Amino acid sequence: MRKQKPVRFFIRTFGCQMNESDSERVSGLLHRAGGIAADRPEDADLVIVNTCAVREKSEEKLFSYLGRLAYLKKRRSVRIAVVGCVAQLRGWEILEKYPAVDYVFGPDNAAELEALAQRDVALKSVSTSWSEEWHETSPELIRRESRASGYVTAMEGCDNFCAYCIVPYTRGREKYRPLASILDEVRDLARKGYLEVVLLGQNVNSYKDPDSGKPFAEMLKEVALVDGPGWIRFLTSHPKNFRPEIAEAMADIPKVCRELHLPLQSGSSAVLKKMKRGYSREDYLDIVSLLRRLMPGISLSTDIIVGFPGETDRDFEETLEVLRTVRFGSLFSFRYSPRPMTEASKLEDSVPKEVKQRRLAEVQFLQKEIQLEDHRRLVGKTMKVLGLGRGRKTPDLYSGRNENNQVVNFRSAEDPTGRFVEVRITGFGPYSLVGEKGG
Ligand code: SAM
Ligand code: SF4
Repeated sequence: MRKQKPVRFFIRTFGCQMNESDSERVSGLLHRAGGIAADRPEDADLVIVNTCAVREKSEEKLFSYLGRLAYLKKRRSVRIAVVGCVAQLRGWEILEKYPAVDYVFGPDNAAELEALAQRDVALKSVSTSWSEEWHETSPELIRRESRASGYVTAMEGCDNFCAYCIVPYTRGREKYRPLASILDEVRDLARKGYLEVVLLGQNVNSYKDPDSGKPFAEMLKEVALVDGPGWIRFLTSHPKNFRPEIAEAMADIPKVCRELHLPLQSGSSAVLKKMKRGYSREDYLDIVSLLRRLMPGISLSTDIIVGFPGETDRDFEETLEVLRTVRFGSLFSFRYSPRPMTEASKLEDSVPKEVKQRRLAEVQFLQKEIQLEDHRRLVGKTMKVLGLGRGRKTPDLYSGRNENNQVVNFRSAEDPTGRFVEVRITGFGPYSLVGEKGG
């Protein structure tokens, strides 16, 4: 019998770190099944599009990408799989509207993708079933993008049902990974010389070991005992579940980076209530005070939604006040976008588009000013940076991140990728620092 040529596959990932991590797993599974990664869709027999459904705009980006793939398919034989959150949300609708697509797999069906590398799946199939079980992927299989910083998934799904958010409907209920498996993966990263571990979950601080019931703070302590990785980060934390023990564990463990992503969403308690976030502006500010008391110099980052139904000018002003008070190190801001099935989608999307746009611009302007001021103060300082590779926008410089998760682009005589180096800051922009590696 003639041996089949290996399948060349290309994965395009939209969305968050969770999706990036899922794509690294899928890439590993396809490799195990004999597939070979291609650098561009034009060189692939199989294109996998890993999707994000959080905002309408994310779906629009996907559909425009599918248009480009349909054009490619007219010129060469290529199979197209849509996977992840939009696959879960839209299912068969994708096959009906986008005839170029051959397969649709939800986030819980990634393991089935392996069969695609063996050309073993009937064309035009949809697989979006849920499982309450944790699906383990052996750590050796994962094909990581970075050789310095490794994602380790700790939990999946979300039980919070914030009024605006589609994630509980696309990713399902919370499932926690056994602590023993998390530690196995961290040890695997340590053996491979990784210097940073990033623990992932939509709501990572609600983690509970399914075997022992140990909570997130205990998990953090055990991860820190693994010899090797010098830095530990985790995301995303929910203020509602951010117990003081977590702040205390962070402060006690020097390996935990002095940095936390803590989405605020709005600075108005009235809006937070309508969003069903489960905390008030004061609760949030109390957490910030505790973190700063225990870890002076900790850098916080956040997510803000502007234009949630009923958000008044006064509510919005309260958000700006919190930004001025907390002075986040970085911030992701979004215009509210109604999503199917969510509670907020039943409310009138009352804030006009122009008002949302103006508020978004104001948030971004204020944040840019804050970052510029804070970055300016760092000029002349020397800091520890984890080298991550060549800068994407500055290929003549290397790029890395400091403990506060700030991007540092720097000059270095030798390649610092995968090493901690000391960098002296010589310049800055609003979103990154510039420096020189010390001798
Ligand atoms: N689990 C995390 C949390 O609770 O903050 C983040 C989940 S979500 C993938 C990332 C961010 O997208 C959210 O923090 C929120 O700011 C934004 N987001 C989610 N749904 C949105 C919507 N319908 N419109 C605009 N932004 C949205
Ligand atoms: Fe969405 Fe809220 Fe869950 Fe975050 S905590 S994923 S915003 S429902």
